[in-house]
Amino acid sequence: ATPTALMVGTGRGAQLGILIKGPEVLESTRRVDTVVLDKTGTVTTGRMALQDVYVAEEADEKEVLRLAGALEHASEHPIARAVAAGAQERTGALPVPEHFENVPGLGVRGRVEGHDVTVGRFPDALPEAVARAKEAAEAEGRTAVVVARDGAALGVLTVADTIKETSAEAVRELRALGLRPVLLTGDNRAVAEAVARAVGIDSGDVIAEVLPQDKVDVVRRLQGEGRTVAMVGDGVNDAAALATADLGLAMGTGTDAAIEASDLTLVRGDLRVAADAIRLSRRTLGTIK
Ligand code: ADP
Ligand code: MG
Repeated sequence: ATPTALMVGTGRGAQLGILIKGPEVLESTRRVDTVVLDKTGTVTTGRMALQDVYVAEEADEKEVLRLAGALEHASEHPIARAVAAGAQERTGALPVPEHFENVPGLGVRGRVEGHDVTVGRFPDALPEAVARAKEAAEAEGRTAVVVARDGAALGVLTVADTIKETSAEAVRELRALGLRPVLLTGDNRAVAEAVARAVGIDSGDVIAEVLPQDKVDVVRRLQGEGRTVAMVGDGVNDAAALATADLGLAMGTGTDAAIEASDLTLVRGDLRVAADAIRLSRRTLGTIK
């Protein structure tokens, strides 16, 4: 394409709500055949709220919420914000942890009121009833995190996120362009599959329980299979994968790290605009040869 055509394409992109890092970016979209979609914050709103609390028989619900809320209060993760806000609302003031540590892709751990506490998907043995409640929540697409004190699981908190209204249509549009959508997430497989089902992604194209640092390897593996990969993400934990993908698209509603690592930014965070971007570049490159 001529420089003029690329500039026109870039201007048209701005009208559609697509910020393009440089005119040359349009060229790299041409061969894209696979679109990897991050789940939380990209396919879903990422605005989470605390829902149900299931506790082991001997545990006290308020106590479980207080311990979990105290630790999560120190984290910026969307799950953490939901748990901290919900715990505060339901129990009042939260204790200040003596120690706190963020474990990316797994959760948080620390010391609260003299106890070792973890919240997240650490490998804890769960009491039968709690395990069943967790599985039921996950089958419905809700994320369930385990609260443990001194190595014993006390209960499970569920947080709900909502799928963006536009996500299913976006997946249809991407398919109509001949692209294969893949869902990538650190979340549990059952949750990921429930979300995939709702938006029309094949269960064979769901890659779940991936640690933040391993997302980039998933992109490399797909590239190694001969695919040209676009990645759409919003989080700090997506930045390396966005930079490695043949085309990185960031949600404008996401983190600065994701936006900096990407070639394109979808200003309004609407996934349908990812399809617009690919259509635009094909048209820009197709008209003038
Ligand atoms: P995603 O890939 O969907 O953006 P993350 O990699 O951030 O998700 O997290 C993966 C999983 O790790 C979450 O679904 C949750 O089970 C657990 N997790 C991560 N951070 C936290 C936290 N602060 N509190 C509880 N659980 C967490
Ligand atoms: Mg995300």
